Amino acid sequence: MNRFCDYKSCQYFNKQPSIEQRSKLNKVMCPLCMNANYCSNRCRDLDWPIYHKEICKKSQPDRARSCNDTIDSCSTTSVRRKAEEFEIISIGSKLELGRGSYGSVKLVKDKQNGLLYAMKIMNKRQVFEYCSVENLKREIKIQRRLVHPHICKLHHYFEDKENVYLILEYAQNGSLFNYIKKRSKLPENEAFVYFFQTCLGIDYLHKNKIIHRDLKPENLLLDHEGNIKICDFGWSAESLTEKRMTFCGTYEYMAPEMLNKQPHDFSLDVWSLGILLYELLHGNAPYRGKNNEELGNKIKSGQPINFALTLSNDVVSLIKSILKYIPGERLTMNQIFEHPWMVKHASNYNIEIQTYVYKTQNPTRQIPTANFQSKQKSIDIQKKEPLSRPISQDQNKLKEQSNNYKPYQNDYKQEEFNKPRISRISNRNEIMMHQHQLQQQQQEEKLSFMDRVFLAFGCLNREKK
Ligand code: ATP
Ligand code: MG
Repeated sequence: MNRFCDYKSCQYFNKQPSIEQRSKLNKVMCPLCMNANYCSNRCRDLDWPIYHKEICKKSQPDRARSCNDTIDSCSTTSVRRKAEEFEIISIGSKLELGRGSYGSVKLVKDKQNGLLYAMKIMNKRQVFEYCSVENLKREIKIQRRLVHPHICKLHHYFEDKENVYLILEYAQNGSLFNYIKKRSKLPENEAFVYFFQTCLGIDYLHKNKIIHRDLKPENLLLDHEGNIKICDFGWSAESLTEKRMTFCGTYEYMAPEMLNKQPHDFSLDVWSLGILLYELLHGNAPYRGKNNEELGNKIKSGQPINFALTLSNDVVSLIKSILKYIPGERLTMNQIFEHPWMVKHASNYNIEIQTYVYKTQNPTRQIPTANFQSKQKSIDIQKKEPLSRPISQDQNKLKEQSNNYKPYQNDYKQEEFNKPRISRISNRNEIMMHQHQLQQQQQEEKLSFMDRVFLAFGCLNREKK
């Protein structure tokens, strides 16, 4: 039979799609041998490390021997910069700003203009073998056209024989995740600043038809003035009209529709904003579990969440109106900006929210965050000084004892609690899961009918088993 998709685990491996289904599928082929056909980029990426890699090498030995060829044929167009034009700067004894799933992030100085950037170095072999090249292409394609004060700017991208390089705006003060862990939790007026700036960035993305899909404090960086910079667009998607289906994100921040494998839209990010505001104020996400399954079930059950009694009614009402189980019932970005809690805190900082909200008519307009920062006491991350005096620990203790809110640190090991959370089920895990399932399937196929009957009764001889 003429197969529609060459990936053995795809539903179209043995079955032809209907004409209607066919119109929705993209025909793609292996860029090396041009022989294997797939119904989607996902099937091509999953098939490569499991089966096709070996066959492909046989048919095009010269090309496949070199990893560069493989990535070149899939990569986005490079621009004219080179890795040698950037000098790596060490901070104290540290040579890296951080480590991502597919490589490291280093502080570099552009030799041409002396400016500092963060250089994300991704090893091509790892990207090609374990992560979807499509994800990397999407990350570059989306991030390069975004210009907003609260979105980490992608200045250049290029590749050499071994690596793909992203030259990013340098966020000097690390991630909001580490900042929250240092401070344990933030008072409402300080939480407002981070929440508001994140909302401005997300609103800009949504107005540009982009859903971030992996919003969490680990992906919110802080620049030298403590301003939010949204980063990591590896799971972002352009959503023009139709809803999206890919299962991605980080469990603690996943909306019920994602966990229920239902189509999702922009309201997915709105849910994550509600979780973010809760985490800023409590130091932990509202739903936690001993494993992802337990955590996912808690979110899917829609059980009410506990709030610290020290919080104002306004902020509790805002979080509750965002964390609505049904996506259509959640506040829109505009309703968030107009919520009394937002308006009250904005007026405390002498700002008018609407003057900061992105106006689509003038996409290059810069929101004057520097002025915004100078109107308040600057956030000195090193000194860990909050914008307002936090309620003393004793006062907190008394108030928390008087209600049934329990900080999660008591229920879970502290090391677990301080670890950054891992994004989504990565392709790497997915590939391993598929490999395992297929091995089991092949094992079962090797057994004869009678062997399987014996196996079912538990009396198959040991060697065979
Ligand atoms: P993962 O998929 O595991 O989140 P990743 O491959 O997407 O990883 P990033 O999250 O982008 O990698 O970066 C890893 C770490 O490097 C971040 O947690 C942060 O500490 C640091 N980092 C990334 N970008 C910057 C930046 N622009 N400025 C300063 N530090 C950065
Ligand atoms: Mg990340």
